[in-house]
Amino acid sequence: MMNIQNILQKEKLNKEDLIYMLSCRGEEEKILYNFSKGVREEEIGQSVYLRGLIEFSNICKKDCLYCGIRKSNSDVKRFNIEDKHILNAAKFAYDNKYGSIVLQGGERDDNEFIERIDNLLKKIKKLSNNKLGITLSVGEQSKETYKRWYDSGAHRYLLRIESSDRDLYYKIHPNDENHSFENRLRCLKDLQDIGYQTGTGVMIGLPHQTIENLANDLLFFKEFNIDMVGMGPYIEHKDTPLYSERNLLMPQIDRFNLTLHMIACLRILMKDINIAAATALQAIDPIGREKAINIGANVIMPNITPTDERALYQLYQNKPCTDEGADECYSCIEQRIKMAHCEVKYEEWGDSPHYYRRRKG
Ligand code: SAH
Ligand code: SF4
Repeated sequence: MMNIQNILQKEKLNKEDLIYMLSCRGEEEKILYNFSKGVREEEIGQSVYLRGLIEFSNICKKDCLYCGIRKSNSDVKRFNIEDKHILNAAKFAYDNKYGSIVLQGGERDDNEFIERIDNLLKKIKKLSNNKLGITLSVGEQSKETYKRWYDSGAHRYLLRIESSDRDLYYKIHPNDENHSFENRLRCLKDLQDIGYQTGTGVMIGLPHQTIENLANDLLFFKEFNIDMVGMGPYIEHKDTPLYSERNLLMPQIDRFNLTLHMIACLRILMKDINIAAATALQAIDPIGREKAINIGANVIMPNITPTDERALYQLYQNKPCTDEGADECYSCIEQRIKMAHCEVKYEEWGDSPHYYRRRKG
């Protein structure tokens, strides 16, 4: 008979095992969480790494059906933070001993944009004496662009696959060449080939998504040999096409719990990767990210975007920390991580051990 103890003793987890782990509740859920916590302690210790998140622009050429800043949403005031403010935020991260930052924004691939990112990378490297690690998350680009940015100082890249199931992918994206599933896979492959630490992830609790889809997502991360994962609950936004399917959604709290299950399963499946506690967890539960840290995540991304623009970067509704300055967020994070019995590691890039093992072959 299948039970959680038997599954957790297995050397290799298959799809059925993962479906069972994702669905277990009550006592079995506690056993699962204790186990994933143990794996985390054994493999990567109590350390939690900070990535200062700068959401620098909500101008986007894409029309993802779930996202509040999609191109066709005319109710959004568009912003593009000036370079000097981005550099100030990076300096703040450096001065406060954050090991690294994430530059995230809407997707653009025009020359002006490519050039701008390139310049910012070089300037951030300079202002931090080459010390600050830089992760980029600005969507799909050509291999040439990825390489150029890598050479200018970016060493990690986040590009969620959103769903590894092609059919589901096209239920949440327009089916056109600007939103091609194959191109997204191509991008992930190029990023790995160039040498980036490559991060991906999915949204959890999407309309039409099944537990089997989620189990397959986990196997996809493993198969793709991914170095880091950020996954969070899908949160509906009223000005998006996917909002019309909200009657298909499970309650937010169930999406939250399912995300914790996904994190626990992933920690057991891929013991040495970096797993981020997504901000969207906090939109549902004020200590959602700490709960994720407690059961296996090891990266947290405090928002250090200048406060004026924060409220305009509404990928989903009820986005947390949109009215606090970076300092306030900073002190609350340290306390919260202690609550999860973990310890913030300052001044370290916090690369995943998996990345080094993968590169060594
Ligand atoms: N434009 C870039 C980065 C910004 S979007 C990109 O798309 O890769 C960053 C992430 O926000 C997306 O990958 C998506 O998973 C998440 N996101 C967007 N809308 C969301 C929503 N309604 N609920 C939860 N997460 C959402
Ligand atoms: Fe643009 Fe990213 Fe939102 Fe898609 S998810 S619309 S690419 S910002």
